[in-house]
Amino acid sequence: MKLEAKIPDGPIEQKWSTQKFNYKLINPANRRKYNIIVVGTGLAGASAAASLGELGYNVQVLTYHESPRRAHSIAAQGGINAPKNYSNDGDSVYRLFYDTLKGGDYRAREGNVYRLAEVSGAIIDQCVAQGVPFARDYAGYLDNRSFGGAQVARTFYARGQTGQQLLLGAYSALSRQIKAGTVKLFARREMVDLVVVDGQARGIVARNLVNGRMESYAGDAVVLATGGYGNVFYLSTNAKACNTTAIWRAHKKGATFGNPCFTQIHPTCIPVGGSYQSKLTLMSESLRNDGRIWVPKKQGDTRKGGDIPENERDYYLERLYPSFGNLVPRDVASRRAKEMCDKGFGVGESKMAVYLDFADAIKRLGKSVITERYGNLCDMYKQITAEDPYQTPMRIYPAVHYTMGGLWVDYNLMSNLPGLFVIGEANFSDHGANRLGASALMQGLADGYFILPYTMGDYLAGTRFEKVDTKNAEFQRTENEMSELVNKFLSIKGKRTADEFHIALGKIMWEQVGMGRNKNGLEKALTLIPQLRDEFWSDLKVVGSGNDLNAELEKAGRVADFFELGELMALDAQHREESCGGHFREEYQTAEGEALRNDKEFAYVAAWEFTGVGKKPILNKESLKFEYVIPSQRSYK
Ligand SMILES: Cc1cc2nc3c(=O)[nH]c(=O)nc-3n(C[C@H](O)[C@H](O)[C@H](O)COP(=O)(O)OP(=O)(O)OC[C@H]3O[C@@H](n4cnc5c(N)ncnc54)[C@H](O)[C@@H]3O)c2cc1C
Repeated sequence: MKLEAKIPDGPIEQKWSTQKFNYKLINPANRRKYNIIVVGTGLAGASAAASLGELGYNVQVLTYHESPRRAHSIAAQGGINAPKNYSNDGDSVYRLFYDTLKGGDYRAREGNVYRLAEVSGAIIDQCVAQGVPFARDYAGYLDNRSFGGAQVARTFYARGQTGQQLLLGAYSALSRQIKAGTVKLFARREMVDLVVVDGQARGIVARNLVNGRMESYAGDAVVLATGGYGNVFYLSTNAKACNTTAIWRAHKKGATFGNPCFTQIHPTCIPVGGSYQSKLTLMSESLRNDGRIWVPKKQGDTRKGGDIPENERDYYLERLYPSFGNLVPRDVASRRAKEMCDKGFGVGESKMAVYLDFADAIKRLGKSVITERYGNLCDMYKQITAEDPYQTPMRIYPAVHYTMGGLWVDYNLMSNLPGLFVIGEANFSDHGANRLGASALMQGLADGYFILPYTMGDYLAGTRFEKVDTKNAEFQRTENEMSELVNKFLSIKGKRTADEFHIALGKIMWEQVGMGRNKNGLEKALTLIPQLRDEFWSDLKVVGSGNDLNAELEKAGRVADFFELGELMALDAQHREESCGGHFREEYQTAEGEALRNDKEFAYVAAWEFTGVGKKPILNKESLKFEYVIPSQRSYK
């Protein structure tokens, strides 16, 4: 397969504006003749559906939640980046572009990343116009704070609830279009398959989660905005419902999957507390603005954090990375935390935690300032751990948080399947092998508000469409296939629930395909995952029926897809014999324990083609060219 990234020629600063001018347009009166299906109402999906509706297209938007406001985006805490340079500390579009490429360990496209940085300022303006209550400084200007991998303050925030406020803004824009009649919302619908007619994505089949019926939706283009797949690890900071089904089933219909193994492990999460735990809680990266990370200098120290004197503490990030200190990127901070714990310096009962301490900041700024900045996060921490972070340092440990991998898309955000667009966390994205904090919200909203509305018009205007509606045989065939799948889950009548299988899969993924990966472990994963998958198909227990709301049935479908995806992730991690960003192959590291890239052999996007369950997928490579930022060994010292 020939993958064409379609990055426009010309100087990097002009690529997007030239391209926008060159895109074909559809006149306003003709837009209503086109039907677009958007799956997902998180920041990416809601912003896309609202913008396409505003342009005058007919949009059908689906979510498996009961309301668009329940999308996982609502959980985002720390903030959203834009190089407005309000802090006057030297920020610029170019610097955000540079930081993002470097932060991603040079495994992203220059053209895409520059465009992302370029449009990010407009997101803030748009959100302010919608009424998003970003934090302000004493003069009334929008306030900024710092996030990892940057030496400037460019993160706009609304306390620790930025995602919620942004989603309320996008939801308002969406609701306006629903009222105007351009957007039709279908809640409680789960997309279970993509429908491809004559090589073009022409619709989807969704299961009505309330009555169990299969429903067909036909259109001229399909947009997947279905979020990330971190829950393949079972325990993650993602909302429990996040899954891979929409993009995985599209992958099985021909869409290539980009860099599936690129997973972000976030350094500051509340450590695992017990074997019955079903999810992990993030403590936002913003806390690293004021919180200092440390471990005792003595291995196996059993004293309480507050009892350990200053000279017996190792502020290891400040020691190892004097320039960036506690604000090194996530991959670096996570690896160092693991290293400290593996060497016996961990704290707390499990010894699998390090401290994040506000004592200095409280002394310097006062408790009220810390409460103002991070109050809701401190409350959350206290409710979960019964410890008061104002009195005693927080215990934190890395946890799975975000997936940089996803369906491969070109510069126009279209997959290799004509008419299938993928936006937000669901695509393989602009973050390379490691995403910088506060850049996911930026990417999702850039895709939905400012990029897709242009690229979609160009596709529709330049494509010949045969009339396809839900009476087309392909829809009926897909509906039947999906009904059979539901019946299959219900008829196995085994002994283990989907959750039990998910926990077992997650354990393999975390141990062998997690923060540190090596050849032997990955080989082991590639043996264990198919074995467990076979057991799943013969011993699964799904209670209830297929004709009404059945959470167990929903989980069965999602876990089935996680099994297949998990295997691809292990294979991708096995083939990439280098370390880059969040993909840390233990065999490839510098003398100082940093990721050791191999640009000669691996400066490409791995885009995998599905060939059948249990069969070896085909690897396609999109090579990455760097004209502006020449890859070097990343240094945050
Ligand atoms: C705890 C936490 C905090 C975070 N904080 C930040 C932050 O401060 N800054 C930042 O930049 N990033 C942050 N992130 C990352 C960021 O929140 C996500 O990457 C981003 O919100 C994803 O948005 P999205 O629109 O792509 O997907 P989502 O918000 O996950 O939305 C997915 C949508 O798709 C729908 N859907 C999925 N599958 C189907 C299907 N098969 N059928 C029908 N509907 C489907 C869902 O119902 C939902 O509406 C955080 C992540 C976590 C986990």
